[in-house]
Amino acid sequence: MAITKKQSAELAKQVFQYAPAPEAIDHIRIQPRYGLFIGGRMVDPHSKKHFPTINPATEKKLAEVSEADEVDVDRAVKAAARAFDSWSRLSPSRRARYLFRISRLIQERARELAVVETMDGGKPIKESRDVDIPLSAAHFFYYAGWADKLEWAFPNRRPRPLGVAGQVIPWNFPLLMLAWKIAPALAAGNTVVLKPAETTPLSAMLFAEICMQAELPHGVINILTGAGKTGSLVVAHPGVKKVAFTGSTEVGKLIQRALAGSGKKLTLELGGKAANIVFEDAPLDQAVEGIVNGIYFNQGHVCCAGSRLLVQESIAQPLMEKLKRRLSTLRLGDPLDKNTDIGAINSRAQLEKIQGLVESGVEEGAELYQPECRIPERGFWFPPTLFTNVSQSFRIAREEIFGPVLSVLTFRTPAEAVEKANNTPYGLSAGVWTDKGSRILWMAERLRAGVVWANTFNRFDPTSPFGGYKESGYGREGGIHGLAAYLDLN
Ligand code: NAP
Ligand code: MG
Repeated sequence: MAITKKQSAELAKQVFQYAPAPEAIDHIRIQPRYGLFIGGRMVDPHSKKHFPTINPATEKKLAEVSEADEVDVDRAVKAAARAFDSWSRLSPSRRARYLFRISRLIQERARELAVVETMDGGKPIKESRDVDIPLSAAHFFYYAGWADKLEWAFPNRRPRPLGVAGQVIPWNFPLLMLAWKIAPALAAGNTVVLKPAETTPLSAMLFAEICMQAELPHGVINILTGAGKTGSLVVAHPGVKKVAFTGSTEVGKLIQRALAGSGKKLTLELGGKAANIVFEDAPLDQAVEGIVNGIYFNQGHVCCAGSRLLVQESIAQPLMEKLKRRLSTLRLGDPLDKNTDIGAINSRAQLEKIQGLVESGVEEGAELYQPECRIPERGFWFPPTLFTNVSQSFRIAREEIFGPVLSVLTFRTPAEAVEKANNTPYGLSAGVWTDKGSRILWMAERLRAGVVWANTFNRFDPTSPFGGYKESGYGREGGIHGLAAYLDLN
């Protein structure tokens, strides 16, 4: 039986009767203005330019950060190159000690980091508290363990660090992406110049404080804030020997072009349009939770989000009913409230991109479903959205939306599911829901995706490699594979 809009609204009212549970922010110290972290100190930018970072849930300015120019980038790369001489020769167990120390400091300052991450980026506090920050600490902890075991990790090779790594990260998991990049680089004996995203620089600034607290040798980590231009200067600097980029496929291609012939080692973690495939023998209630987690986690600002739901035709109707009912229980609002499921969209630009793609879905003839929810007056918000009646040619089925928008397609046979799942230029992740182990293996062999989750979705672990096929990029982060990207093994 289909659920009517009125019933859905009634249901929403029932579950929205939670008392507000805002996280305290009185323990947070955000400075009004930040410099650049170069050579172990916070320094004023040569450019003399600053720009604001705002809270996307309130549109209020949180702080100003510096814009690094060519001279600043050069200073940072030189500081990292100087530090490389001693850092790469330091005994590996001493290097490990610094990484363990950083990991413990992240744990000690976890609450503060979670609140700042949520304020700067808009993600629900329960996610930054339970996912972003603990996983960031786990990453440093994990790679600390590898620092003195490189020879065992790569037997019969002579693992040597590469030099200065230039790293550029996006805004969807600011501290976690920083950890994914910095931890393996340091464990392997490299030094780092990292540029966080323009809209979410604050947790990286807190991380700079953590480096100072950990008494990390000066210049081993340098953090330069700025816009795309700063990122392009970092990756192009001749002193940088290895580039690691996470972001859009568009910018990834630009970087690949800029680096061609330079001899720099490059890894690219780019966009995605993952298929989450539900077979008729799947446990449906569990699948509904996985679908919700797959696309509405972090407002869908997730490169590996399960943004295309492929449902076996025989169960499409009951699954849609369950899913719609579940969507009407999601709470959208103050990201600092512990009961919030859907926080703010990271920026106005991202909101406009989502709105444009959703409009295209309606125009192309897909059927839109959005549960009733109250949208706050200020800030950037988008309700959880579900499209049925989607054809593979629609933009919402092809392009990465990077928002809380799910496109539902159906299939009849496993072969058709594979064909539809792989019918995308991307290949970052996929999900399979079925009761049969043999079918999971059969599917996993055929899906062209770097990660295939079975009866779960969006699970991350530092020991497990992550990365893409095709336009989702190349190279792996996490696990022993993530270490190899930062070593000369020839
Ligand atoms: P983006 O525009 O590519 O930005 C990513 C980073 O690159 C930001 O720090 C950005 O600076 C910087 N940048 C921009 N132009 C640059 C240039 N020409 N040279 C060097 N750096 C440059 O991506 P986004 O829109 O912020 O992030 C969302 C995208 O990232 C999505 O497509 C998503 O799928 C992808 N992503 C992939 C993964 C993965 O692991 N595969 C993880 C997360 C996100 P500004 O912030 O100043 O623009
Ligand atoms: Mg911000």
